Formats: sequence, C-alpha cells, structure tokens
Amino acid sequence: MQASGAFGSKGNLWHSTAREQVTADSADALPSAVDLLIIGGGFTGLSAALEAARMGAKVALLEAQEIGHGGSGRNVGLVNAGLWLPPQEIIKTLGVKTGEALIDTLGAAPARVFDLIARENIACEATRNGTLHLAHNAAGLDDLKTRHRQGNQYGAPLQLLDVEETTARTGSPNFAGALFDARAGTIQPLAYARGLARAAQAAGAQIFAPLTVEDLTHQGRAWVARAAGREITARSALIATNAYHMAGFSSYRPSFIPVYYSQFATTPLPQSLRAEILAGGEGAWDTAMVMSSFRMDAAGRLILGAIGNVEGRLGGGTHHAWAARKLAQTFPQLAGQGFSHIWQGRIAMTGDHIPKVLEIRSNGAAVFGYSGRGIGPGTVFGTAAAQALLQQNRNLWPMPPLQKSVTGFGQLRAVYYELGATIAHALQRN
Ligand SMILES: Cc1cc2nc3c(=O)[nH]c(=O)nc-3n(C[C@H](O)[C@H](O)[C@H](O)COP(=O)(O)OP(=O)(O)OC[C@H]3O[C@@H](n4cnc5c(N)ncnc54)[C@H](O)[C@@H]3O)c2cc1C
Repeated sequence: MQASGAFGSKGNLWHSTAREQVTADSADALPSAVDLLIIGGGFTGLSAALEAARMGAKVALLEAQEIGHGGSGRNVGLVNAGLWLPPQEIIKTLGVKTGEALIDTLGAAPARVFDLIARENIACEATRNGTLHLAHNAAGLDDLKTRHRQGNQYGAPLQLLDVEETTARTGSPNFAGALFDARAGTIQPLAYARGLARAAQAAGAQIFAPLTVEDLTHQGRAWVARAAGREITARSALIATNAYHMAGFSSYRPSFIPVYYSQFATTPLPQSLRAEILAGGEGAWDTAMVMSSFRMDAAGRLILGAIGNVEGRLGGGTHHAWAARKLAQTFPQLAGQGFSHIWQGRIAMTGDHIPKVLEIRSNGAAVFGYSGRGIGPGTVFGTAAAQALLQQNRNLWPMPPLQKSVTGFGQLRAVYYELGATIAHALQRN
C-alpha cells in the first residue's frame, strides 16, 4: 500500500525494496475451528503464528489489508535493545521484580530478532552494527549520561562516545556525543514482516489477507470470529492490531495515543558520501523532544524520520519543508538532495510508554502499546503470546497480563503531539 496525500505521495520505500514476498492462503481454505486465532499481520501476530505452528498447533492469522500494512511495514527499522524509557523509570512503574525481568528480556530482544532472521533465512537487510543515540545539545548529553549509567548498572554494554567520535561516525557536525549500543541494529522492516509470514506458513500456519475480522465474541469457553460472512471458532485468540485496529469488537476496545511519525528517503548516495555518513552502518536517533532518526538502507539511501504526520492537513506541509532543511542542516554534504520516498505511520503510545498485555477472559489477549519500540518487543511478546495462550499459562508472558488498560484522552493527546511537532518543525527547533 503506497502512501497518498498532499505531501506524502511518493510512497513507502520499504514497498519498493522488500525482497520477501508472501502469498496469502485462499479464503476458501478458511478453517471452521483452530487452536489459536490471530488478528493482525504485523510483528506481534506473525511471531505468534510462527511460534504456534512450530508448537504443532492449528493456527490461522487474519490480516485486514496486507502483511505489514500497519506499523510493521512502515517503521524506521531500528532493532533496539530495551524500551524507550531508561531502566529506573521502568522499575518505578512496574516494580523491581517485573521491571528487572522485562529489562533483561528486552535487552536480549535484538539477539532474538537477528537469530530468528538467520534461522528462517529472511532477506531483510539485517545489519547488526549497533545504534547511536545522539545528543542534540548539552541537555541531551546529560540525558545520555544518565542512560549510560543506568544501562551499565543493569548489564547493558553501552558506550558513551565523545563529540569527535560521534562526528566521525555520523558524518554530521551537529551532535554533542552519542550512546552506542552494540546489541542493536537495523533491518528492512516490511521484508522482516513478510519473512516471518513465509516462515509461519512453512511451519504450518494459515495466513489470510486481506480478510478483516468484523467481530470477536466469547461463546461458551471458545472464541468466535466473524469474517467475510463466515465464523471461525478458536480455543484461544490473540488481538495483535496495535495502532491499526479496525472494526468495533464487542470484546475489545483499543486504548492508546496515536502518534504519527514520517520518513523521507533520498536516492542512493554515491560511494564518497556513503563513506562519510553513518559509514559504520549504525541506526541513529536523537535526544530532542520532537525526535528525529537517521539511518542508511542497503542501497545507500539516507532515511530521515521525525514525529509528525506528513500527510496530515494540520502540519503536512510544515513537516515536508522541515525535512529538506533538516537534511541540509544535519548533513551539509546533502544540501539540495530531494527525497524519492516519503511516508508515514501511526505509533500506539501508552500513558506510561510501557507495552500492555491485556487478558481477555482466560483464553484471549490483546498486546499493544509498544510506544515506538515494536520490532524486538513485538517479536518477543508475539512469541510469548503463542506459548502463554496455547499452554494456558499466564506466567509465560514477559510481564504480568492486565485485566484492564485505559490510556485516557487518547485523541486529545494525539493532537497535542502533532501540534507540538508542527510548531517545533515550523520554528526549526529540532
Ligand atoms: C513510523 C513508525 C516508525 C517506527 N519505528 C520503529 C523502530 O525503528 N523500531 C522499533 O522497534 N519500532 C518502531 N516502530 C514501532 C513498531 O513498528 C510497532 O510497534 C510494531 O510494528 C507493532 O507491530 P504489531 O504487529 O503489534 O502491529 P502492526 O504492525 O501495526 O499490525 C497490526 C495489523 O492489524 C491489522 N488489523 C487491524 N484490525 C484488523 C481486523 N479487524 N482484522 C484483521 N486485521 C486487522 C492491521 O491491518 C495491521 O496490519 C515504529 C512505528 C511507526 C509507525
């Protein structure tokens, strides 16, 4: 699906370069009963489908559009270790036992992702050269020092880089220092999603797309999904629709803050510039409140990203104009470079920036709210979902499931984020 809109009509780069393809199962093959029904074909649902099929379960995944239509096919491709929050904030919110366990699990998430990519031979430009969290000013450097100290305290092998090293690695004079995380890396995210789908099918999962689940109800002890005039009965069900949830289910109402993030890709840069800009292949993002990200793809395109909706009526034009200025300001070597691809996606933020596992009855769950960190966590939570739901063991989740999760004033807070990004970009604050 290509982006369309006044300022975002150049389309999603990942659709142009994904080498993995998926052939969905024919709707005629839709089963009437399964062990696990999965709604949503992103990292979470696909990881669950792969794991469930490997466990020998009968599993069907239904995706309303195409595999990777949601955040999984639109994201930056930074395979980060841990959550966006520093460790002590996670512990403050979740408590020591749950917090430390989650920090450990998600610290190892990039290894899980890259191992899975190798095991399933997924062609997704996997590059495990680490990530750079870039200090956009002195206050940003203080933030990185705190993250460095806390990260090391909880076993993360983070390295604080000085301004010279940061300038040499990024090819940009704009950053006051950086935090390097060797555990992390980058991927072509849509190709990863499609590769997971292919692997799940090979393991025996059935994948249907496009096929929208119109409702999901609990009847007796089973789940019943309605799709295309048919009913599927399931022993257990996983709702993995995150920020792209469609249809009003009687059993589940999503609750999150939708935050837009847009990306702008150049054409492939000549070798001389590739040797200067992020030459080590790290993925990068900065400490600014209205965050920006920078990475190269395998063909040498520089991809700039930022909070804001480039297709939005409110700030679309502002974000677009900002991107050209930001590129020239960050990488003076690239002044005047146009963008060949522009697209946006919707992030599901929660109030505390921590993902949620919502238990629905004893044999159903919704997992959502990765708050912009969904490649590692989506893979980990999706895999755990298959194990926890099929074995009916709630201890197998990476964190205790909740009975209720409400993020209040989601739409209002979304306007606040978009307005803040638009003003910051208009004033070129970040
Ligand atoms: C622009 C952007 C940049 C990001 N950058 C990064 C990054 O660099 N690193 C990182 O780790 N994370 C990043 N994220 C977050 C990450 O992409 C998401 O957290 C992750 O993709 C969520 O995966 P998911 O499978 O839970 O949901 P999704 O990938 O959103 O999939 C949900 C799917 O459910 C389908 N669906 C919805 N309703 C129904 C229905 N009724 N029936 C059937 N199907 C349905 C949708 O069509 C959709 O395909 C970014 C997100 C965005 C939007």
